[in-house]
Amino acid sequence: MKLHTKIVLGLVLGAASGIAANTLAPGAAWVRWIGDNVAGPVGQVFLRMLLMTVIPLVFTSIALGVAGIGDIRKVGRVGIRTIVYFLLSTALSAAIGLVLVNLFQPGVGLAPEVREQLMTTYRSQAQGLQAAGTTHFGIDTFVNMVPRNPIQAAAGMDLLGVIFFSLVFGAALTLIPEEQARQLVRVLDAVGAVVVKIIDLAMTLAPYGVFGLIFFTTSRFGWGLLRQLGLYVAIVLVGLAIHGGVSLSLLVRLFGGLKPRVFWSRIRASIITAFSTSSSNATLPTNIAVAEEELKIPPKIAGFVLPLGSTMCMNGTALYEGVTVLFLAQVFGVSLDLGTQIVVLVLSVITAVGAAGVPGGSLPLLMVVLATVGVPPEGIAVILGVDRILDMCRTTVNVCGDLTAAVYVARAEGEWDPRVVNGAVKLAPAA
Ligand code: ASP
Repeated sequence: MKLHTKIVLGLVLGAASGIAANTLAPGAAWVRWIGDNVAGPVGQVFLRMLLMTVIPLVFTSIALGVAGIGDIRKVGRVGIRTIVYFLLSTALSAAIGLVLVNLFQPGVGLAPEVREQLMTTYRSQAQGLQAAGTTHFGIDTFVNMVPRNPIQAAAGMDLLGVIFFSLVFGAALTLIPEEQARQLVRVLDAVGAVVVKIIDLAMTLAPYGVFGLIFFTTSRFGWGLLRQLGLYVAIVLVGLAIHGGVSLSLLVRLFGGLKPRVFWSRIRASIITAFSTSSSNATLPTNIAVAEEELKIPPKIAGFVLPLGSTMCMNGTALYEGVTVLFLAQVFGVSLDLGTQIVVLVLSVITAVGAAGVPGGSLPLLMVVLATVGVPPEGIAVILGVDRILDMCRTTVNVCGDLTAAVYVARAEGEWDPRVVNGAVKLAPAA
């Protein structure tokens, strides 16, 4: 059986048995025990195997990517293209969300006592969030991207810091004498290959890991939670589906020249990994492998665009943030005029760039947006219960967005021909 098929099987069986356990034996001690001692740990080991490759992978792929592009001016052009694409696709996604919330008004008409109940249930969790994350966004957010100490940045999983250091490192590599640089490039190449091998090994665990992760979530929460805030969840999901199915497909076709059907069927491994890990960072290794092996994007482009995308390009997150802010404004009876909604859109895009690609990474920043437009930030408590499922879905869209960016940049740079993937041209056999 192919690995893909096994992973899908793990996902389906994990979800089915988790929901079955949740419905047939709600709250049973043994279900909890299996979650805590079997499914949870297996899922965690898989997740950690992927996460442990992230720092070396980001460093080698960005440094080699920049060095491979060679000319500093060209790096600048690729960089600008990449970031403009990130911002535009993210803004498009957030706009879709805002239109939907305005059309369907999911937060209007919630009974005040229900609202109170939700608030008291989740208030302490919201306070925990506020204490844990950076709930501040300003000029120092940008200053902090420049790490004082790259090792410390790596140890603290400060991915933006690591990315910044790697970009500068790669650029400097092109500025030293070629002979000296060549040796280092060879070493980095080998390190990169080893890391990719580790990822391959980790992926053999994927079917079990995915089973464990999904079982853990569904056995604990079942479908029950989904019903509570059904309409809100539905709107986020519909928005994500529209952005994924329509806008990203169109972008891939228009800017990449790639048939959407081919694109979606080739990136399955990324979709499943993102969905089950809820983490763009943890999906990065899979994403790079998918881009290079399935979409045939040259390593120097994939290695440059995808690591940046995993922290900076979060289409799904921006849509989710926009919908959530407006939904909560409706719940709390705060009216937001068009101008304020545009502020919400801009802030959603900016904070999606700043959010960490880890499960729930956008929540602390979401509280900042809420506070900025005058919605009580602890109101986030209302939606925390359903956040798991939304996180899985928005992360999937985030990751697919990164791949569309890689497709666009590779094509725009003349480094890649979509016909190779579309099937019109066969790759020349390796000599
Ligand atoms: N979990 C998301 C990601 O990793 C970030 C977020 O929206 O919380 O892409």
